Amino acid sequence: MNVPPAHEHAPHAASGPRIDPWSSELPADQAKLFEEFGLEAISDSLRKRFDSSHLFRRRIVLAHRDLLPWIKAADEKKPVAVMSGIKPSGDFHLGSKQTAEEIIFFQKAFKAKVYYCIADLEAHVDNGLTLDECRQNAIGNVADLLALGIDADNTYFYRQSREHRVTTMAYKLSRRVTPKMLAAIYGDKPISLQMAVLVQMGDIMLPQHEDFGGPKHVLVPVGLDQDPHIRLSRDLAFKERLVLPSATYHKFIKNLKGEAKMSKRDPDAMIWLSEDLESVRKKFMRALTGGRSTADEQRKIGGDISNCVAYDIFATHFEHDEKKLQKRFDDCTHGKILCGECKTQMLAQALEWLKEHQEKRAKMMKKAEKIVEKQEE
Ligand code: SF4
Repeated sequence: MNVPPAHEHAPHAASGPRIDPWSSELPADQAKLFEEFGLEAISDSLRKRFDSSHLFRRRIVLAHRDLLPWIKAADEKKPVAVMSGIKPSGDFHLGSKQTAEEIIFFQKAFKAKVYYCIADLEAHVDNGLTLDECRQNAIGNVADLLALGIDADNTYFYRQSREHRVTTMAYKLSRRVTPKMLAAIYGDKPISLQMAVLVQMGDIMLPQHEDFGGPKHVLVPVGLDQDPHIRLSRDLAFKERLVLPSATYHKFIKNLKGEAKMSKRDPDAMIWLSEDLESVRKKFMRALTGGRSTADEQRKIGGDISNCVAYDIFATHFEHDEKKLQKRFDDCTHGKILCGECKTQMLAQALEWLKEHQEKRAKMMKKAEKIVEKQEE
């Protein structure tokens, strides 16, 4: 069993910066937060090893906690798990796709078993959806995962409300948590969200439950905003004599307005994987770019690509060819292309991917329904 560094212990969080996992605001300086929370950067050698994934190649996954012990266990053919989940408050969007691609990468690269939680209890308290509405959304979410390539035979899908081992674990873990600890990590939150946190702790510990073979290394791919959950889970795992969960952290993709992280809370500023293609076209063509005030100026000094949300989305989701992406980068920054033409080209590629994905998703709906309904038995 490994020991969490002192700065990770929950009560210490009160003195440092605090991130709100329920907010859609972007932390002001993501890199600084990585440093302050003691995350390790993804090294060049790791990046090289994971070169087949654009998420690592393009530095979308930036940092980790204890990824190396997880890899070592996997390399030694010990059982390892990847834990992830979704609040079934709607369909998958590009942000959900990014996390899904990461778990699928680890599943394929290491034959790791995925535990995938449909967090219906959290969607119920946080978004006011009925459990039945959550079940319906969950079918679409699982269909998206199947279409993205998850290996259903090596995945345990479950709904929080039906997985009593999780709620039992949450009760058990609650003995280790005080209101002061939660306030130090999350601030002043309603009891319902505090309960949702404990249930999430149960989710993260589930792969180490005796019914699933007991203690093992578990990797949780998250965005930086979820780090409070990771820190708490490591603290609790330590107290419960379990293996401390490992985590990888990806950077946020801004929403289409360039204002905050892409989230379901601003539907006009995000793209759903199931969205009508005409609606995607309209939204994408309105997305923030790094275009200059006049065409002449742009031809002269090039576009401000570091502030171009359209490019950021395109590079993260729709262009995996490094040479082609480099050419677009050069054309933009040398003023060889203007935003209208550039966006039209990027959009065409995005629509092609979405169309194909939607066809695959539609074919997966029946299978997804069976997977979700299985827990009714
Ligand atoms: Fe973005 Fe393309 Fe405009 Fe460059 S030319 S700022 S990449 S839309």
